[in-house]
Parts: sequence; C-alpha cells; structure tokens
Amino acid sequence: IPVLSLYGLLERSARLYPTCKAVIDGDREMTYMELKDAADRFAVNLDNRGFQKDDRIAIMLPNCLEYIIAYYATHRLGGMVVQVNPLYKSSELDYILRDSGANWFIGREVQREILALTSFSERLTFISAEKLMETGTDLSRKAKELAVLDIDPKEDVAVLQYTGGTTGKSKGVMLTHFNLISNVFQDFAFTANALQLQSPGERMLGLTPLFHVFGNGRLNSAIYAGSTYITLEKFEIDKVVDLIRTHRPTIFPGVPTMYIALLNHPDLTADDLCCFKYCSCGSAPLPIEIIQQFEKKLRVTILEGFGMSETSPTTHRNPVIGQKKQGSIGIPYPNTDAKIVDLKTGVHELPAGERGELIIKGPQVMKGYWENPEETATALRDGWLYTGDIATMDEEGYFYIVGRKKDMIIASGYNVYPIEVEDIIYQHPAVKETCVYGVPDSYRGETVKAAIVLKKGKSVTEQEIREFCVQRLARYKVPRSFEFREQLPKSAVGKILRRILMEEGTQSPT
Ligand code: ATP
Ligand code: MG
Repeated sequence: IPVLSLYGLLERSARLYPTCKAVIDGDREMTYMELKDAADRFAVNLDNRGFQKDDRIAIMLPNCLEYIIAYYATHRLGGMVVQVNPLYKSSELDYILRDSGANWFIGREVQREILALTSFSERLTFISAEKLMETGTDLSRKAKELAVLDIDPKEDVAVLQYTGGTTGKSKGVMLTHFNLISNVFQDFAFTANALQLQSPGERMLGLTPLFHVFGNGRLNSAIYAGSTYITLEKFEIDKVVDLIRTHRPTIFPGVPTMYIALLNHPDLTADDLCCFKYCSCGSAPLPIEIIQQFEKKLRVTILEGFGMSETSPTTHRNPVIGQKKQGSIGIPYPNTDAKIVDLKTGVHELPAGERGELIIKGPQVMKGYWENPEETATALRDGWLYTGDIATMDEEGYFYIVGRKKDMIIASGYNVYPIEVEDIIYQHPAVKETCVYGVPDSYRGETVKAAIVLKKGKSVTEQEIREFCVQRLARYKVPRSFEFREQLPKSAVGKILRRILMEEGTQSPT
C-alpha cells in the first residue's frame, strides 16, 4: 500500500474506522470501507484502461461522491489530479487542458458537449461520472493485485491546483503528496488537538469547492481524521440551512460570502448553529463587522485564517486556545515561518507595524508552477514564497492582511487599500456586501469607487453612504462614486471579483 501518498490517508482510516461514515452527499452515504473499496475499484478500472503513473486526469466535477472516489483512485495509481472548475466554459477548459496536458477527463455526461468544443476531445479519454461506480464486481479482488507504487512524496505531484484567477490567468500550482499531507498534519496540530476534535464522529460541513485548494485540503483533513464529510453540490443557502439542521455538523471551514449568507438568512438561529465546535474562514478578507454580527446573532466565533493555492492551502489561523484577534489572520501554523519584507527589494525584514510583502516558508509551500519557470522564479526565492499580498505583523506576532499588491489604488499619489474602506462600509447597517476598487481618472490617476449590495428591504442614498464614510475615513480614501447593484461578481469559491468590476468600469465609465 502506498502509505506515503494521499491515498494512504484513506487507506489508514478504512483500516481504523471501517464502519464510520466517510461521506454524506445528499441521500447517498459511504463508510470508510465502502469509500476505499470504491476508490480501489475505480483505480483498477483506470489501470485496466492503461493509466500510468504521472498521467494527468482532469476532474471537472462539483462537490460529490464521484469527485472524492476519483481523487483517491488517482492517487492510488500515482497520477496527478488536474483541478477544473465545473462551471468553466469551453475556452477556459481549453486553456487548462492545454496547459496541463491532461490525457484523462472525468466529467458528467453534460460536459461532453463542452469538451467537444475544445481542441482536446480526441486526445482525452472521457470517463462519465455517472458510470464511475459501475465498474464490475471482480474489481475489488483485483485491487489487491495492483502494483504497490513507489511514490516519492516530495517529488511526485499529486494535484495541479489552478489558482483562483482573481488577478489574471490562473496558474497551475504543483502540490506534492508531501505538501498536502504536511498541511493536514499542521491543521490537525493547530486546531484539532486543541479542541480534541476530529476523532471519528466529528462532522465536517464541506461546502468550499473541492476543485479549489481550500476544499481539497480540508477534505484530506476530514479523511485523515475519520470524520464524516458532508457535502452539497452548490452553495444554496436554504439547502445549506436544511443540511445543518439535519446533520448537525461540528466543523465548518467557510469563506466570507458563506458567512454573510448565513448571517442574512431570515430564520436561522443560534440554536441551529450550536452544533458547530469550530468555524474557520479563509480565502478572502473577513470584515470585522461580520465576525461581530455573527457572534452576536448566532453565537459562533469565526476564526479567520489565511491560505493560498501555493500553500496547500493554510499558513495562518487564529488559535482555538489562546488569544484571538479580530481583523487578523492569526499566527503561522506549526512548522511555518512568515515574515514581512520591504516591497522594493523583497529582502529586508520590516519591524512590527510596517507594511510590506508577506513571505512564507514551510513544508506546505508548492514545488513550483507547472511548466512556468519564470513565474516560479518570481514567486519562490531563496526558499521563500512571495505571496503578492501586503501585510503587517504586530508585536505579538499576529499578522494582518492589508491587501494585494495588485489591488492597491493610487489616488492623487495616495495609497488606498480596498480592504480598509470595505471594512468601514460593512459597518453601515443597510449594507450586505461591498467591493472597493480603483477606476482610471485623468486628473487623479485613479479614484476610489465602491459597489454595494444592500440588505433585503433596506434603502440608503449615495449621499448618506458617502457621509458615513467621510466621518470615518481620511478624505482621500472616501469613494468618489458608489454603485448600487443587485449582486457582485464572484468566483466559484465565493470570492468577490474586483477585477471584473474594474473591467466593467473601464468599459463604461460612470
Ligand atoms: P490568482 O492567484 O489566480 O490571482 P487567487 O490568488 O485569488 O487567484 P487563491 O490561491 O485561491 O487564488 O487565493 C489566495 C489569495 O487569497 C491570497 O494570496 C490572498 O490574496 C487571498 N486571501 C486568502 N485568505 C485571505 C484572508 N484571510 N484575508 C485576505 N485575503 C486572503
Ligand atoms: Mg494568487
């Protein structure tokens, strides 16, 4: 058994907790034994079709049982999972298939059409997710005969994790077995041990997409721990609330927009959420106002953390036991080093309180970008990962994200960081969501603009919101224009897409 691979996590839990529930997906469930069995059988199926070690298999599925089976089966054979957003259209899919060189593809029947529109449908072996579990009965016996693979955990890439594409074209991040497993152990040491969590019997609400590193990483945590991973194909708030009421999950790794949606649900109460022992939040800034309202209304503490595709995903988190700081991403995970360095040279470490680039070192840091030595050389220097995020550290070693280098607005020569302005706008009682960004201005270079979604039934004028900001922010940070919208563009993981708003802004200046 290749214990040094991600598959080894599943194999171990199947041995220790064979009858515990591993996954609940709608009305389907599987125990650990059944999940391992299904992964083994699918591995035999792939092997019979000629799958080789290091083959790349694109999985284009929403969160579902088939994804999980295909994921561990691939690792059983030493293949690479190429993560594909199931909402992608043919041109986006074409890019990932070209870039990754995938030779296998798992998707739903409906995706055959999208695949047919790419230049790769001939090269790829299509495997229909609907038929993934129909693999014959003699296969589990054969699984025992599958060669024991010699996986080199530090060299062999387990996942090609395409980045969120928030700031541009997404890049393929090479995550090795060692990277991803390291993060499972770091996560376990930092949070689960502290809470004595993650014995079998814990239930993780797995709503962050599995094709995204955050969903993927925490799936591995749940599988290693022998917890039950409860999932849903799509984040639809009423279904989520039903799922919480039915299955009483104990662990919830979420993203800010999920917490905002729960907060705005008309009849969700603190009693509904009293099952949560541990809620974390990452992937985008979590406004302090949301943490406070959530605590007040639903009596749940959200622990903010930080992660990236490049770091498998987590590097920082507020601790379960010990001081938590709202507005901070917390302290580095065990066995992780983090520093703030000056933006110009990237070398000099800055004292507490000063703004610079956040750089990270640790076993969870990627091997590099797939076939992209230039980007790799920019991101990985002297063993440090340059995150492209501007941050500060306080005297006690807690880190604060100020914003991405690329998002900084320069208005009349002043630096404005969108997060700071958004934090203020979120304090307005009528505001549900907001995104602040720069728009070109012939006189000032750039000016600050805010897009706002109001809470249901609330109204407010542009003048009132401006006045609210003027009272709380230096004049140059106050948005010069506000736009009220029904909704904001979001990525599949629920990140608000500033880039799309900026592009719209330059097409039709208001
Ligand atoms: P791309 O690199 O393609 O532009 P992306 O950076 O959004 O996309 P991910 O790897 O999914 O893709 O996201 C990592 C980024 O998310 C970080 O670099 C950081 O900017 C942001 N992020 C994550 N957690 C937080 C947080 N708690 N607060 C603020 N920003 C965060
Ligand atoms: Mg990035």
